[in-house]
Amino acid sequence: KTDTMLYLDGVSVSFDGFRALNGLSIIVYPAEMLAIIGPNGAGKTTMMDIITGKTRPDDGEVLFDGRTDLTQLDEAAIANLGIGRKFQKPTVFENQTVWDNLELALKKPRNVLATLFYAMDASDRARLDEILETVRLTARKNDLAADLSHGQKQWLEIGMLLAQDPKLLLVDEPVAGMTDSETVETAKLLKDIARTRSVVVVEHDMSFVRDLDTRVMCLAEGSVLAEGSLDQVSANPKVIESYLGR
Ligand code: ADP
Repeated sequence: KTDTMLYLDGVSVSFDGFRALNGLSIIVYPAEMLAIIGPNGAGKTTMMDIITGKTRPDDGEVLFDGRTDLTQLDEAAIANLGIGRKFQKPTVFENQTVWDNLELALKKPRNVLATLFYAMDASDRARLDEILETVRLTARKNDLAADLSHGQKQWLEIGMLLAQDPKLLLVDEPVAGMTDSETVETAKLLKDIARTRSVVVVEHDMSFVRDLDTRVMCLAEGSVLAEGSLDQVSANPKVIESYLGR
């Protein structure tokens, strides 16, 4: 446990008697990417909600960074621990430049007064420059976010999360609506991020999951159906029956 970034053990939650998670156990190690697949209703979103404190489990253990019990904390406290979540739709500030979006994200975790008087120093600027490189937006630095493509907006939002220096990044269907070349680039970008941070990606696009080239877990009916490489998971008869074969 102490070596894990995320440790879920026997997590269950019911909504009006319907068991959305049913003894779910997941481990993510530091600087590791885990891809999660599975049919609609499998519990993928609920799992993310449990990790970020939006939903409380009825049962089970949820540990962050080998020690912090997330079931006792609220969403803001969990975000401040270093867990960033990227929802499916990009939510960037359209009428601000790419750079200003990143700068706003950098300031976000501080309190209101500190935000007002916060001045970026050289090391902050160097860090944002590095993030621009990571999210492939250096050339668009001074452009309005509104002028970016859909894919680039997704990258900018990932950059905004990186500005808050998360240890664990949760990413929900990042390539939905992206062009083929943006999808390929997104896999590379996430692999770059996962060199130093833990990343959990929920995704339906199997060619993208293949490009991620990482450990895959298939959820169904609120627990883990299969786990391993994409080849291992997609050859599993239970996975074919409940997900891939449909
Ligand atoms: P996935 O993201 O894999 O599609 P979800 O986690 O969204 O699955 O949903 C798992 C099941 O739990 C679904 O049947 C869904 O209808 C149900 N569910 C999720 N959240 C709630 C909620 N807040 N209230 C009632 N039912 C919910």
